[in-house]
Amino acid sequence: MVFSNILGHSRSISFLSRVMKGRRLAHAYLFSGPEGVGKATVARAMAAGLLCTDTSTLAPCGYCPGCRQFASGNHPDFLRVLPDGASIKIDQIRAVKKQLTFSPFAEGRRIILVEEVQTMRREAGNSLLKMLEEPPPDNLFLLVASDAEPVLSTILSRCQVIAFAPLADDLAADIIRRHAPELGKRDALNLARLSEGCPGWALAMETGEVLALREQLIPALLEKKRSEARSIEESLFLAGAMAELKTDLNLLLNLLKVFFKDALLLSLCAESPAPVSAAHTKELVRARERWNLSQLSDKICAVDSAGQALARNCNRGLVCEVLMLRLIA
Ligand SMILES: [Zn+2]
Repeated sequence: MVFSNILGHSRSISFLSRVMKGRRLAHAYLFSGPEGVGKATVARAMAAGLLCTDTSTLAPCGYCPGCRQFASGNHPDFLRVLPDGASIKIDQIRAVKKQLTFSPFAEGRRIILVEEVQTMRREAGNSLLKMLEEPPPDNLFLLVASDAEPVLSTILSRCQVIAFAPLADDLAADIIRRHAPELGKRDALNLARLSEGCPGWALAMETGEVLALREQLIPALLEKKRSEARSIEESLFLAGAMAELKTDLNLLLNLLKVFFKDALLLSLCAESPAPVSAAHTKELVRARERWNLSQLSDKICAVDSAGQALARNCNRGLVCEVLMLRLIA
């Protein structure tokens, strides 16, 4: 099977397997869902299966020229577009357009995989839309977009949307341990929980400095300060550390949001929303004692606004300072 190595997402995978088997492919698919849930992994597996020239099976054989070129990253009929810096630029889409004026090199089809479509600004998005409106024959578009930010609705309407939902914690933990076998079961489960069932997000956190900063930030927010001046001083110091995370800052914002959301749930339901470590349960209980429902929901809004400001390319340092001041307010 094309997707035999992939855990979870069984509905999307069985749908895609069916259309691949019946050769009833649409001209464009949009893989949509939370960050790090496995959308791009499934899209790449689909591309690998379609570029294999051994037609006796759906799964890539691993030996034919198509498979070898794909594995080496040099398949002439596989175009992959990733953000250049913070977003996908119009020049990148123009370059794809130019290649599409030629027929695919091999006899099959060309596959254009565009990842993080949500980072495209309007100009680049409209250029992509033109290609989707009049797709040259023998080209298949696989677009991958995180649902953290909206994708142009005109693009959505031109694609068949494949929706991805967060994975169950134990399934996400199994995937995390596949990639990081040194982790214990309990740690993997905790990461799965913190990443809300998105193993890609969990693994990115595991390697960076995000988790360490979270362990500093949340106790600092929970602590009752002796004076306002002291509290502002500490917040601005932490804001500086946050800004230094650069692209990982979004991961930290997600963690903060999960924390405040869980605290809100705990306040509403009086019990811990999901299995978390003892230390994290303690934090949630303190958060419930410290903040009421409206304060917690204000904090979630503050984290959301910070995420939106970053997506608009606002100054990272400033965004972090404003966020911290709102969180300690
Ligand atoms: Zn092959």
